[in-house]
Amino acid sequence: MRSKMVKLAWDELKISEKERQAMTEYLAFLSEGKTERESWQILERWAKKSGFTSLDEVKDFKSGQKVRLEVQGKAGILAIAGLRPLSEGFRIVAAHIDAPRLDIKQRPLYEEEGLAFLKTHYYGGIKKYQWTALPLALHGVIILTEGQKVSIVVGEDEEDPIFTITDLLPHLAKDQNDKKLSEAITGEGLNLLLGHDPSTGEGEERVKSAILNILKEKYGIQEDDFVSAELEVVPAGKARYAGLDRSLIAGYGQDDRVCAFAAWKAIEAIEQPEWTTMVLFADKEEIGSDSNTGMKARYLENFVAELITLQTGTYNGLMVRRAMARAKALSADVTGGYDPNYTEVMDKRNSAFLGRGMVISKYTGSRGKSGSSDANPEFIAEVRRIFDKAKIVWQTAELGKVDQGGGGTIAQYMAIYGMEVLDCGVGILSMHAPWEISSVADLVMMMRGYYAFLAYRN
Ligand code: MN
Ligand code: MN
Repeated sequence: MRSKMVKLAWDELKISEKERQAMTEYLAFLSEGKTERESWQILERWAKKSGFTSLDEVKDFKSGQKVRLEVQGKAGILAIAGLRPLSEGFRIVAAHIDAPRLDIKQRPLYEEEGLAFLKTHYYGGIKKYQWTALPLALHGVIILTEGQKVSIVVGEDEEDPIFTITDLLPHLAKDQNDKKLSEAITGEGLNLLLGHDPSTGEGEERVKSAILNILKEKYGIQEDDFVSAELEVVPAGKARYAGLDRSLIAGYGQDDRVCAFAAWKAIEAIEQPEWTTMVLFADKEEIGSDSNTGMKARYLENFVAELITLQTGTYNGLMVRRAMARAKALSADVTGGYDPNYTEVMDKRNSAFLGRGMVISKYTGSRGKSGSSDANPEFIAEVRRIFDKAKIVWQTAELGKVDQGGGGTIAQYMAIYGMEVLDCGVGILSMHAPWEISSVADLVMMMRGYYAFLAYRN
């Protein structure tokens, strides 16, 4: 099948010392950032260290100046002022930092037959059976009525307990085995096992009461405080290399933190771009980009309005619109990698193969490209030229066979402004599973590719 035309990223790589170091950083980024809030916190910390000043603190936006915007602690944008005025347009790489998981319901805690559980509501596209009988961790925040924020991470430290969702023993799974894969485990059945020691509890539900005592003691919270909490159940444990040759990375949330990380490494390496350069980290992509932290919200537009006002000294709505419409964007997201175990759902001629470099997708969507941005070939030609000049190994792909399903990205919500947008990321195996697999070679190419796009001078 492989023609002589196919280039392997591995053959062209020569990974530098700096890029090796970046892989270590990437593993830490995945291990420590398992929620959108945690991922943004890490990115913000790195950005601060690299000289990105908060928008609230800057007085102007002159060439080379670095500014950052935080959106509700769950999303953000980093920008470096170009040599050209912002109204001439900008370059942006936009990824998302939310990932499929199980959220804790607002009234979650209950006891049954001496066992305490938390009820969950899954977030994003998951295969429910993958979330039973594996070690899970609890990450998130609880906001008390006086505004005090309690941050929680349980299940990551070696001394921590972990959590789990039980599954049925195979001995009694006859009926379960006969069910469809999508129905064998139900959403309401995904209840997190929280404890079962009644000895310090009181009343009719002693286990629940004992758990509440622990919550009060350790975190200062009461049962009602779950109402104003955002608690997420994620796979416990650290991301790590996979494969005897350490050529792959296994970790939770690589859709889309692999692109978020590559976008960060790209802008980190830029000093003075010709056009204003931005990277954006969005939330809520996995559930349709709604809410004030999702890409449908107007924070990019508002940020550009603020920067143009800083640059020109006055608010000019027309200049904002022009800047948005003249922008060029890579919608940085992953796609399904070609999996030799599941060839029946892939079009081999239009798939993303691991190790063959970055992936560009002219369109995404499903049922006849519905929900897709469908990039203009003029812009694709420009991106090809930039990548080829920078010796980036890249391939083109769509998600899978036309009639098998599909998916969207944030590309369409950026295209609204008139900017050119192209989906561009890497292929992932076991996408949306608790542990996803990416290729080291593809990630290194992606860091170089995003840099080439952001730093390109005409
Ligand atoms: Mn994604
Ligand atoms: Mn996804």
